[in-house]
Amino acid sequence: MRILVCNDDGIDSPGIYTLAESLKEIGEVTVVAPLKEQSAVGHAITMHYPLRVTKHFKNGSFFGHAVDGTPADCVKIGIRNLMKDPPDLVVSGINHGSNTAINIIYSGTVSAAREAAIMDIPSIAISVTNHAVTDFNFAGKVAKLLAKEITGKDIPLGTLLNVNVPDVPENKIAGILLTKQGKSKWDDIYERRQDPYGKDYYWLTGNLLEMDKEIELDEAAIKRNYVSVTPIHFDLTDYETYNKMKKWNIEHLLNGKKD
Ligand code: MN
Repeated sequence: MRILVCNDDGIDSPGIYTLAESLKEIGEVTVVAPLKEQSAVGHAITMHYPLRVTKHFKNGSFFGHAVDGTPADCVKIGIRNLMKDPPDLVVSGINHGSNTAINIIYSGTVSAAREAAIMDIPSIAISVTNHAVTDFNFAGKVAKLLAKEITGKDIPLGTLLNVNVPDVPENKIAGILLTKQGKSKWDDIYERRQDPYGKDYYWLTGNLLEMDKEIELDEAAIKRNYVSVTPIHFDLTDYETYNKMKKWNIEHLLNGKKD
């Protein structure tokens, strides 16, 4: 199995190292990851600047390709140019911090996996629920288990798995749950500060609000120490509203304008 490994925390982050090492036990791993931290860049791609790719070494040996771009750039150029053959699986992470609820939209980690899904390649995004994780080993193990589990399974093209692993010791993990994207939102706080020249600037912080209570929602599952696995896709059509709006006959708005 050929596996492309990416992330949004940058090629030097400990999470991607543990992930690559763990997946090497089940496949041939190619690492293509951002040169610098790209958290919260979402699905951005680079079009107006050149993309530089450099070889990245860890502990004296070749680790992977560092791309001076976004997570989505990495997956695209990794598959189109850097890998000889397309991967059977793309795994993105292990992210420092959870990617649940609305965060899925902002997440570079999830976007790397979503880019793979757009390219019809099965993919997994995996995150640990703490920004200051010290041990990624259990999440690495979960990534490996899921990578094996989805091989040969009938996951529709265009769908990826978004996985969140609680940052607790392995013996405190309650199990693994299939979940849905939660509805928690952020109360954005822009802290106003002053630079050394007396000019104001703002720094975004905040807390995740409206905590989801139902256990089948991602945020609630991780709070109860379950590993959360949510199948997500990028088809943004709201089918319920589409069907409702069909009865509106919006075509009448421009009747007579064109045949
Ligand atoms: Mn990140």
